[in-house]
This record gives sequence, structure tokens and C-alpha cells, in this order.
Amino acid sequence: MTRPNILFIMSDDHAAHAISAYGSRINATPNLDRIAHEGMRFDNCFCTNSICAPSRATILTGMYNHENGVRTLADKLDGRLLNFPQLLRSSGYQTAMIGKWHLGHGWPNDPTGFDYWNVLPGQGEYFDPPMYEMGHEVQIPGYATDIITDLSLNWLEQRDPNRPFLLMCHHKAPHRPWRPDEKHQQLYEDVDIPVPETFDDDYHTRMAAEAARMRIDRDLTPEDLKAPVPEGLSPEAEKAWKYQRYIKDYLRCVASIDDNVGRILDYLDANGLTENTMVIYTSDQGFFLGDHGWFDKRFMYEESLRMPFLVRYPKEIAPGSRCSAMALNVDFAPTFLDLAGVAIPETFQGRSLRPLLQGTIPTDWQTAMYYRYWMHLDSIHRVWAHYGVRTERYKLIYYYGEALGSTGSEDRSTPKTWELFDLHDDPQELHNLYGDPTYQHIVTELKTQLSTLQTRVHDVSVDAVD
Ligand code: CA
Repeated sequence: MTRPNILFIMSDDHAAHAISAYGSRINATPNLDRIAHEGMRFDNCFCTNSICAPSRATILTGMYNHENGVRTLADKLDGRLLNFPQLLRSSGYQTAMIGKWHLGHGWPNDPTGFDYWNVLPGQGEYFDPPMYEMGHEVQIPGYATDIITDLSLNWLEQRDPNRPFLLMCHHKAPHRPWRPDEKHQQLYEDVDIPVPETFDDDYHTRMAAEAARMRIDRDLTPEDLKAPVPEGLSPEAEKAWKYQRYIKDYLRCVASIDDNVGRILDYLDANGLTENTMVIYTSDQGFFLGDHGWFDKRFMYEESLRMPFLVRYPKEIAPGSRCSAMALNVDFAPTFLDLAGVAIPETFQGRSLRPLLQGTIPTDWQTAMYYRYWMHLDSIHRVWAHYGVRTERYKLIYYYGEALGSTGSEDRSTPKTWELFDLHDDPQELHNLYGDPTYQHIVTELKTQLSTLQTRVHDVSVDAVD
């Protein structure tokens, strides 16, 4: 049997609501849409910790962050931990990791499990990025998204066509500070991008949200805005101006990703690889695109929690299909092993998505997920650590108020506070229902679910659930 190739394309901070296949109101992504039209769109794919390094570590190791040790941005991945590329490689796959890594450099944090790797150090640069090619620094002139694609195509070109491949192509874009390339510099110049419905959220009933420093009107820096704020604007006009500066650059970066994904899809077509290659497009987490008046991520709220997840694999996935069952980043690794016919290790905590891809939802499929953001009061965004549970209808979040020794955190207490949202009646999560007697039984039920999930994934409650 010919085993499938796996082409995993992941961008950084690309929210699903900036992809037209997901119904974006603000941009068009024809090439990403191709993957959706020819494959499956996951509508409820979630990350278990909405921040770069932890999500990447989970994707590679198939484990939650308290198990793989990458709880915050300040933690590094120990390359000696078992990861799925190692297993694919030892089963005969050719493996490569190109682009953003963000899990540390040098022993033991360099990528493991790859025949070839060429990665950006740290967050990476948009222009003329220094890169570490198998541990040696190189500098490549050009724009990061183009370069990462060029390197990926070069690697595909020189591979052994008689063996299956795993290629992880990780873009830096559209991460802050959102620097577009020349080609897209003028895109959207003469249009006003609409603001989201929650643009003027007042954070009523949500203390942690109010405390966060990621507001469009206040927290974008001169480096983000790339132009001086015009004088004499009203506060509303200034906020609107900043939003346009921010969102246009963000979408310009996305446009370049879309073009480059198109180049890779064309390469697969031209080389007869389309049939036998699973192509994935995802992002390490979602992002606030002015939603709640914010940029950034971290919170367990929908825009940040949801990952775009588009998958094409003609041999097993019906074109134009959609999946509303819950999928998590911890499920990716088992899926790839399953696809390659490699046994899934006991230590991997997710479950293969393969039945979902084939159009079947197993009767015992997950209907609730566990989330935990550990980085308490980081120096910039000041988001409070929290954990919670999301079911198909409800979300319960607990801001537990302590750093608990997490790296990149400030050791200062914040109020312990809970939030409950009814996602059916309040999809925008504006009305915290915690404490409303009508919902007492729901809270009790969700706390039990939270506790059950924590036990299942081997995490622990920070204090007795009250
Ligand atoms: Ca990210």
C-alpha cells in the first residue's frame, strides 16, 4: 500500500474569520478556499492553550502543555520528548520542518525527528530573515512567506519520490508586527474594512477582559501602526484609524500566505502529488481581529480559541465537506500516525481525527474540551491565567489568580473569578452568566465536567472547586 504524503501548512495567528472559506467578511483567500472546496472544513477545531509555543509543542508531541513542559512562551520544547515526526521518520517517511519553530534553539531544543530543518530563530523576521539550517545560521534575502515557500518547494523537489514525506511548512505571518510584502502594500488602500460587532465591547461582567492590555484604541504601538496618529481626531475616530492600520496590514500578510499556498498546491498538481497527499492548512491559534476591541489572543474566547483547520485528501475526504465535531490540536499527531499506519503511543493524549475525515462521527466522540492558559500577567498583555471547559453549548472559565511558578509570569495575585457563557444565546460572549441562579445547575454540571477532563488529561485543579 502506498502511504500518503503529509503536507502540514501552519501560519501564525491566522484567525479562521480571516479566511473566506470560513465566511470572512473582511477578505478573500481563494487558495486556502481551494483546500476547503476540495476537502473538509472543520468548524470546531480548538487549541488547548491559545499561544504560539505551547500550541506548537502540543501539535508535535500530541500532549497537553503540563505534560510536554511548554506551558508558556518562555518555555522550550525538550527535543528528547517523543514527537510524531520522529515516529514517521523511523517508519520510513522523509521529514522536513521549514519556517517558524519558536520552541528554542541549541541542544536539546532544536527540532528532532526531521531529516531536514531550516527554521527562523525566535519569532523570526519578515524581511531578509536569519535562519538556522540544521544548526547553521544562514541569511536569505527576501520576504519570509516567500522564502519559507521556496525552501519547501526546493525540499520537495530534491526528495526521494519513492518514499512518502512529511513536510511541515510554518509561516511567520501574519504575526505581529504585521509587515506586508511589497506586492500587497497597496491592497485595501481605498477601502474601509468593516469593524466586528463587538468592536466597542465595554467588558461589563468580565474583569479579566477589562484588565487585559490588547486594546486597539490604547495598546497598539508605533511599531504596530507604522505611521504617526493623525492629530485632532476624536477618540472614536482615532480608534477607527488604528483599526484600519492594524487590520489592513494583517490582511496583507494573509494575502501573501494565500498566494504562497497556491504555489504549493500548483506544485502538487504539476507533479502528480495531489491524490496521495494530505494537505492541511491551520494556524497555531486564532486571533482577535478587533473583536472585543482587541488584537492578540490568549483568552479562551471563541475568536482566539478556534483554529482554522482545512484538510484535503482526495482518497478519504469528500470534497466540500464540513465537520462540526470537536477537534483539538492535541488530536493532530495521532491523526498523522493513524494515516501512516504507525501505532499511536500511549503517551499521546489526543485521538485520531480520521473517522471524522471519512465522514463518520464515532458515538463516543468528545463533546467537551479542556483549555488552560498558564502565562499569568505577562509583561505586555497582562492576561490572567485561566482554565476552563467548552462544551457544544456552554463555556465555563476560571481565572484562578496566581502564577503558580509559571515562566514569563508575574508572581502577583489577581481576583479569582469565573465566567459562564451560553454560546447558543450569546455567541459573542458578552454576558457572563456566572452567579445567575437560573444557571446554577449548568455551572454544577460544567464544574464536574471540568474536573473529569482535568483528571483525564492528568492536570490538577488549582484549588477545591467551590
Ligand atoms: Ca501564534
